[in-house]
This record gives sequence, structure tokens and C-alpha cells, in this order.
Amino acid sequence: MAESKRDYYEVLGVGRDADEAAIKKAYRTLAKKYHPDMNPGDAEAEKKFKEASEAYAVLSDPEKRRQYDQFGHAAFEGGAGGAGGFGGFDFSGADFSDIFGDIFGDLFGGGRRGGRGSNGPMKGANLRKSVRITFEEAVFGCEKELDLVLKDPCEDCHGTGAKPGTTPETCTKCGGRGQVVYTSQSFFGTVQNVQTCPECGGSGKVIKEKCPKCSGTGYTSSRKKIKVKIPAGIDNGQSVRIRDKGEPGINGGPRGDLLVEVNVSRHPIFQRQDVHIFSTVPISFAVAALGGDVKIPTVDGDVIYTVSPGTKTDTKVRLKGKGVPSLRNPQVRGDHYVTLVIQTPEHLSSEAKEALRRFDELTGNTLHQNDSAEEKKEKKGKKKGFMDKVKEAFEE
Ligand SMILES: [Zn+2]
Ligand SMILES: [Zn+2]
Repeated sequence: MAESKRDYYEVLGVGRDADEAAIKKAYRTLAKKYHPDMNPGDAEAEKKFKEASEAYAVLSDPEKRRQYDQFGHAAFEGGAGGAGGFGGFDFSGADFSDIFGDIFGDLFGGGRRGGRGSNGPMKGANLRKSVRITFEEAVFGCEKELDLVLKDPCEDCHGTGAKPGTTPETCTKCGGRGQVVYTSQSFFGTVQNVQTCPECGGSGKVIKEKCPKCSGTGYTSSRKKIKVKIPAGIDNGQSVRIRDKGEPGINGGPRGDLLVEVNVSRHPIFQRQDVHIFSTVPISFAVAALGGDVKIPTVDGDVIYTVSPGTKTDTKVRLKGKGVPSLRNPQVRGDHYVTLVIQTPEHLSSEAKEALRRFDELTGNTLHQNDSAEEKKEKKGKKKGFMDKVKEAFEE
């Protein structure tokens, strides 16, 4: 305790009558300015940081502040042997959590905490592209040509970024590791912060003379055409991965991949769910009643389907194996489900209308408005269903 201590109010730069908020504000400003993580290796800043922290620990605590106001530094001297914190000062009881939450949030916000891993060989980043294809192209697969800008290691400097004839030098700040470790004492104990080396940006190397061709980036960009094989059975939103067509690797690592997302256009009549296709096919009333052949469009072309007599509307027909091939095994295909919908005839010729009326009379389905009461009764009798007839038979 030989060192003479500055007055705590003086340290924080506040008056003796400063309120809690003013003390907090003053400390916050100082802590941000002198925090060891912001001033690596700066002993003077570290000393100032500790001094301010100590002043804050006392003045932010009403009981300690009262003692300090009364007795000065003497209030906390003696009996501090073995106490935690630094400089023998006992920080127990001081609550830094809320203020430090704020400060660390500012210091390390935006993903600044931590480095980029190591500077060993790293795979390059993946590139993403999208391509639009038709419904049929998705079902049967296709090949598309993509036009994209790809980075390649610079031919002049072979990706080093250094002027030909020179070589990048090992970064002296991080010794080529690409990262620096800052150790600081804090109220939570010894804190180690690993950060990307500010000198070399994490590459571990420093370029003294930049390659003129690539301006020191080590890469050149060029437009390239790349053929993409889209496999049969791919669905909307799925991606095709093309190895080694992404960004170049870092420090000799492999290239990243190209991920091509497939957008499938809607089809006017087909809908798809997984490997199955769904569609609706209209059939005439006569075909539904009498049976007959209808043409059903499928992705394999038209299929002739024989409708059985007495088919009801919304009848589902399954065309086995006319769906989408499975991505995993293209030999296996889903099915095509067709809903047959009976069309109500419109715009009939007078002859057709007459035929329908005649049909109606024969089947006894309608009571004509101009029928006499006698006729209506008679037709009602004809309308008796099968069950009525059975009942009658039992009653007799
Ligand atoms: Zn170059
Ligand atoms: Zn470095």
C-alpha cells in the first residue's frame, strides 16, 4: 500500500454529490476507453481500467460510498490479505453484471468475439445459384447451363497475393497463427479473448508488395458457363450440389461447392405431391352413364382409359407408375391419380335437348310442370326405387 491512491471521485471525474446514474455513466465511458481488450499490451490503459473499476466498485455501493466519504481509502485498507480481485482490493459485493453486460455487448457485439478458427487449409465458401425448370424437366431430369462469375487463384502470384518474385512474410504480430490471445484480469477471473489478428486479418501472412494483377487479393474473377445435371424426380426448392465449383479454398484448402436451387414452374393441369401426380379429367354425362373410352393426359403422353358404365362424378382412377421417379431410385415411379368429373352439358342443340327430354321421360326422373295431376301421380309411382319394390313384395 505504498502507492498513494487517487481520490475515487477524481478517478471517475465526477463531483462528490454525483448521483448513481452519473457515476455509472462516468465509469462506463472510462471502462470502454481503457478496457484491456481494446488496448492489448498497454500497461498504462490497464492500470487506468483497474483504477476506474475499483472506484466504481466503491462509489456504486451506497454502504461502501458512505464509508469512503467518512474515512477515505483507509476504510478499505488492512485485512484485505488474500482477498480476490486485483491489487489486493476486495471487489466482493460489487455488482458489475449489468454494466458489464452493456459494455461487453458493445465491445464484442456483431460477432467480433472469437477468431476465425485456425489459419490452416480451409475449404472455400459455397456458392448459391437458382435455376428455373418446367414440371416435366423436374420429372424426367434435364441439363441446364449456368452463367456465373467464378473466382480462381491468380495466375501471376498463384494465389499468394504477393507481387511475383516476392513472397508474403509471416506476420510478426501473431507469429503466423492468424490469431492473437489477449489475457486480462477481470472480476470474473482471468479472461482469455482469442481474436483474429488485426495485422494480417487472420491469414498469418503479411504482403509487403501486392501482386498488380489481382491487387493482392490472390484471386481473379471470370465469367464461366457450367453445365448442371438436374436429376429426374427433383422437387421445387431442392438443390443440386456440384463439388469444387464454389469459392477457392483458403491457404491451399479445397474449393467450396456450388449449390443450385431448383425452382419448378407450375403446370396448367398437373399437380405434384412427392412422387405422385394429380389431375382432373372431365367426362361427358353419356360416357359416365354408358361407359366408354376417355383420353387422359399424363407426363408420358395420353393414355386411353375405359370408363365403366354407371361411373359417378369424382371417381378416382389410379394410373400406376405414371408419376414421378424417385430421386433415390429412378426405376421406381409414383402414381398418377385422376379424378373423373362429369360435365353438365351446356349449349345444347334443339335435337340434343329433345333427346334429353325423351331420356328423362324414359327414366321417369322429372315431373313436367304442364303434366296433369293424374300424370304426376303416375310418374311418382314409376319413380319407386328398388327398396320400395322389395317392401311391396313383402307386404303382399
Ligand atoms: Zn496475383
Ligand atoms: Zn497476424
